[in-house]
Amino acid sequence: RASVGPKYLTGLNPEQREAVETLDGPVLVLAGAGTGKTRVLTTRIAHILSQGRARPAEILSVTFTNKAAREMKHRLGQMLGHAVEGMPWLGTFHSIGGRILRFHAELAQLKSNFTVLDVDDQVRLLKQLLQAEKIDDKRWPARMLAGLIDGWKNRGLMPSQVPSGEAAMFANGKGGKLYTSYQERLKILNAADFGDLLLENIRIFREHPDILRQYQQRFKFILVDEYQDTNVAQYLWLRLLSQAPGAAKPTTPAVIPGQAEGLNPESGDESSAGDSGSAPPAHPGMTVAPSGPTKNICCVGDDDQSIYGWRGAEVDNILRFEHDFPGAKVIRLERNYRSTGHILAAASHLIAHNEGRLGKTLRTEDVEGEKVTVTGSWDSEEEARGIGEEIEQLQRQGEKLNEIAILVRASYQMREFEDRFVTLGLPYRVIGGPRFYERAEIRDALAYLRVINSPADDLAFERIVNVPKRGLGDATIQLLHDHARKRRIPLFEAARAVVETDELKPKARGSLRDVVAQFDRWRAQREVTAHTDLAQIVLDESGYTEMWQKDRSADAAGRLENLKELVRSMEEFENLQGFLEHISLVMDREGGAEDDAVSLMTLHSAKGLEFDNVFLPGWEEGLFPSQRTLDEQGRAGLEEERRLGHVGLTRARRRAMIYFATNRRIHGTWSTTIPSRFLDELPAANVEITESKGGSAWGGTGGYGASRFDDMEAFGSSYTTPGWQRAQANREGNRNRGGGRSGSFEEEAATFSTSSSSGPDFGSF
Ligand code: ATP
Ligand code: MG
Repeated sequence: RASVGPKYLTGLNPEQREAVETLDGPVLVLAGAGTGKTRVLTTRIAHILSQGRARPAEILSVTFTNKAAREMKHRLGQMLGHAVEGMPWLGTFHSIGGRILRFHAELAQLKSNFTVLDVDDQVRLLKQLLQAEKIDDKRWPARMLAGLIDGWKNRGLMPSQVPSGEAAMFANGKGGKLYTSYQERLKILNAADFGDLLLENIRIFREHPDILRQYQQRFKFILVDEYQDTNVAQYLWLRLLSQAPGAAKPTTPAVIPGQAEGLNPESGDESSAGDSGSAPPAHPGMTVAPSGPTKNICCVGDDDQSIYGWRGAEVDNILRFEHDFPGAKVIRLERNYRSTGHILAAASHLIAHNEGRLGKTLRTEDVEGEKVTVTGSWDSEEEARGIGEEIEQLQRQGEKLNEIAILVRASYQMREFEDRFVTLGLPYRVIGGPRFYERAEIRDALAYLRVINSPADDLAFERIVNVPKRGLGDATIQLLHDHARKRRIPLFEAARAVVETDELKPKARGSLRDVVAQFDRWRAQREVTAHTDLAQIVLDESGYTEMWQKDRSADAAGRLENLKELVRSMEEFENLQGFLEHISLVMDREGGAEDDAVSLMTLHSAKGLEFDNVFLPGWEEGLFPSQRTLDEQGRAGLEEERRLGHVGLTRARRRAMIYFATNRRIHGTWSTTIPSRFLDELPAANVEITESKGGSAWGGTGGYGASRFDDMEAFGSSYTTPGWQRAQANREGNRNRGGGRSGSFEEEAATFSTSSSSGPDFGSF
């Protein structure tokens, strides 16, 4: 290597450079927000490619969202100076798992065009199973079962592996059996749910070592972003793929995290996995995974940003990395390149209130910048109005809308902003969460396309067979179900057979015959028509478009707009299959990516992103932290909420603006709220209380400031604890919070000023 090194390496700090250039063996980059973890991963890929260590198709690179994968590809192009052709294994766990499963679908009793079910389909299917078992789904809701099954899948558990105690939890012991029959039904429907995408991979890898070896050989390098949020299934999947090919002998060396040096990879045995030292216990099912010499895997993550515990993510995965990947090099990055001093100090101070953390130093060499602002509003409408005005002002100051984001705790908060932006004519986009695709009209349209793509997709067929109304009521559906079950064929084929008999009344029979004929015709057309045109044809010929055109309700026009948008969005895909696959996997809604628009999203989906200006509305007890975590025993949930706040604040480069409202309508009911405890936990020196631009509901005295918070009681608020106020007024009070570590807060905060001195490290890692 030339002494100067390739261009993409310049500008990296020594630790980042080490993480990029250590290509052989396991590497863990454990570092705080904005320290360049993602940048290191991207640069590492560039390095691998330009050093000729692997071809693009030999690199497995896992990002948290599809959007992040696209972004990474784009950056790679910039670094290398040319577009990277073919990185088929750059994507989310789901998309990569889905891709692998399609290659080996038959080993999972599926066809390669299997459908990926979303939560709604899943619940409908489970409802049918509950009915068949005569289980009262009021007492034992299908959604609850869906949650249980998801949980098992996230932990890598097949039906036979579910601990009997857990299987017994549902419907007096029927949980395990229902899980089994659910899996059987999925196969008959030629469908998989999200959990299956990885679980079936794991099963195939275990049952077919030759196939596993094939992938182990293919993937010369494995890279994982946001490692702190991997769940057990993802972890098992990674472990299987990261063994050197042919390494058959299982080894699980006894090692305490932090003492990885001098390991003997041959020591230990399966049964002792995880019960040694202070290493976290082995995951169930892990002993089945052979472990041997690992190859070039690089994971990056931050325990302070672990925010998916509720979905089965195990922050332990990061703690046990050195244990599980013997000889791992652990690299820490301490310089934050993203945020100004005040923002970083506020974020670090907040997270320091958590007990369960590894602790790390973060410093910035950036200016102190503007303080984090905290603004109270009368209600959520005033909050939306205030933020709207603030955005317009930023726009007048020359800020790009693309550099403005609103991060909400709960997705229902979005609507108010959406409404406000529509009124103001402010362009905005909603990122993350399948909101758009969850709309009824979109799901109907997709169901039509799914039946065309996969005639065995019963759930889709059932959804639209009588939409628009065709006189095919429950009785007809029941008849089709009976036929389908008896002969073990899809509903669609059952329909084809039934119309040849006289089991249906003539009218229903005629109309069902038309449906079958229509789908046959569309399927034939599929071969010769562009998929976007086909979609339009289907919507028009089926009478679906007309159904909404005739509809008199207020939202019909919007629905027709959405359908147009759907057809438009298909243009980006090569064919129908590709499009449907994308839909089922999509985690982030794109749309108008080129336009200048404000981004609206949940805190969860903001992970990894950054914006110059970040609005953080709704910092109220019961919303953020959420009511669920307040009702819970123990502090785990609350700590996860705090990490979410930390993620929110650290998205901001230059301005972070927190809001809370005194009154909020939650699910249609107004209630009075208390400012979030997290406000109390912000360091006074880095925070400024400001006045809402939102209007006069506060009485228009203009007298905002500390005294404002006294007014809350006058407005009937139950807010009586002046903790937040006190924190602002009295830094002493602040210093005394947080138990044993409180003495360090001020010192710690000092570290985040513009100086670059390294502060105290809470390290216990
Ligand atoms: P998060 O934990 O939020 O995902 P991260 O650790 O992945 O953050 P990046 O997103 O990779 O951090 O980097 C944060 C910002 O800092 C980016 O804008 C990135 O381009 C910039 N950055 C990272 N390293 C450097 C560097 N050495 N010099 C200049 N800018 C850098
Ligand atoms: Mg990142």
